[in-house]
Amino acid sequence: MIGVIGGGIAGLTAAHTAQSRGHEVGVFESDTQVGGRFAPVRTASDAVLPRQPPGLSTAGAASQALARTLGVELDAHAARTGYYHDGVVYPVDRRRELLAFPPLGLRDTSYFRSLVDDGGVPPFTVPDHTLDEPEALADVTARSFVTEHATESLYEQAIEPLLSARFGDAPDRVSASWLVNRVIRQRTGSTEVVEPRSLVDALARSIGRDRLHTDCRVTAVGTRRGAVDHLVTIEDGARTEHDVDAVIFDTPPQRLARLTGDDWGGQTAATTTVCVGLDEPLLSIDRVTVVDETPIGRLVALPGPTEEVTQIIYAIVADESADRETESQVRHGIESLFPAFDPGTIRWSAVHTETVSVPSVGYSDHIIPDDGPALSGGFYAGAASRERYADHSLDATIRTGQAVGKSVAGRSW
Ligand SMILES: Cc1cc2nc3c(=O)[nH]c(=O)nc-3n(C[C@H](O)[C@H](O)[C@H](O)COP(=O)(O)OP(=O)(O)OC[C@H]3O[C@@H](n4cnc5c(N)ncnc54)[C@H](O)[C@@H]3O)c2cc1C
Repeated sequence: MIGVIGGGIAGLTAAHTAQSRGHEVGVFESDTQVGGRFAPVRTASDAVLPRQPPGLSTAGAASQALARTLGVELDAHAARTGYYHDGVVYPVDRRRELLAFPPLGLRDTSYFRSLVDDGGVPPFTVPDHTLDEPEALADVTARSFVTEHATESLYEQAIEPLLSARFGDAPDRVSASWLVNRVIRQRTGSTEVVEPRSLVDALARSIGRDRLHTDCRVTAVGTRRGAVDHLVTIEDGARTEHDVDAVIFDTPPQRLARLTGDDWGGQTAATTTVCVGLDEPLLSIDRVTVVDETPIGRLVALPGPTEEVTQIIYAIVADESADRETESQVRHGIESLFPAFDPGTIRWSAVHTETVSVPSVGYSDHIIPDDGPALSGGFYAGAASRERYADHSLDATIRTGQAVGKSVAGRSW
């Protein structure tokens, strides 16, 4: 059997790929449901939501093709993006909207447009070769890249807030590779908001529920003569051993290091997402990056799931403490950003913390190869793999899961 540790989208895709090539698979997931970042969470009002806002993920060719293979349709719709500054949310999808965004002067507006849209005004054209190979910029900071090809003020007013919202308090260390990957995604038009739950459900159905072990944490990977031999899990408080021929890790790199004893020197950042259900909509823009100094870096709005809750807001804070204090800090943060906001419209809230690997300069030294953990029979499809380190899209996740699933299936066990 091929054991997959972690039932996020990468692990499920790898399991599905290996299984469709004739291998027996078993997915071991510590949570009560598979899906990882997009596992459904039941709120106080019984609405079922993804833990992280799908508004941050895009669907490109790989996600669409996998969805077609599985016979599901991805629920995608175009998102409106904007920046919050000094009490106002400015939409920035169209050129004339950008002109109304005060922190950017006319020159920066042109640069910004040409950064996000090929049809924009030169001279901030991202050099062609960087689009072919974003990893070549692994050692260049996003700051120096934008400053060299456009202006420092564009970086400070429009790019740095994006990086801070995503990676916390060290935005100046983030590599230009991440920015270029994002630009490429926008240019290839894969910018819809996607609800990946249909994909998670279809993958789970196709693999077969009996092969998905939920509430089942892998605590050790047993070896025999230097090769993977079994997984040790804790299931209902009981220790169980599962024989395996090979293992695919879909775990964050720091967990992989704990399981295999390898060192991993990459940088991580923690973000807390506070999700509030409102009975009156607060935002008319789907994704809002906050430029001003506040604990809230980003707000993502989704349509309400029930009649009582007409809008859900995910507020993302660069902080690792998913506690009541963060929750009340966010409530107060929303009130201070939007003085007309009535906290009485909040029907429920939920809080969740995530640790992400940061593609900071020099990240390529910390890439974990696909057949990577120094363990015979061990494979890696997690966030520190080559394809995904600086490309945080759903597509890169799916491509990696497929490549690793194929590679494992191509060997004889
Ligand atoms: C807010 C947000 C942030 C994102 N950040 C990133 C990012 O930083 N990097 C990136 O590549 N993409 C990112 N994405 C894009 C993409 O959506 C994700 O890459 C994708 O969902 C991650 O899937 P995954 O399977 O790799 O990991 P996850 O969804 O994190 O799934 C991993 C699973 O492994 C399980 N697990 C971990 N350890 C164990 C264990 N010992 N035993 C059993 N189970 C275990 C966890 O419970 C989890 O369910 C992000 C998307 C959103 C919405």
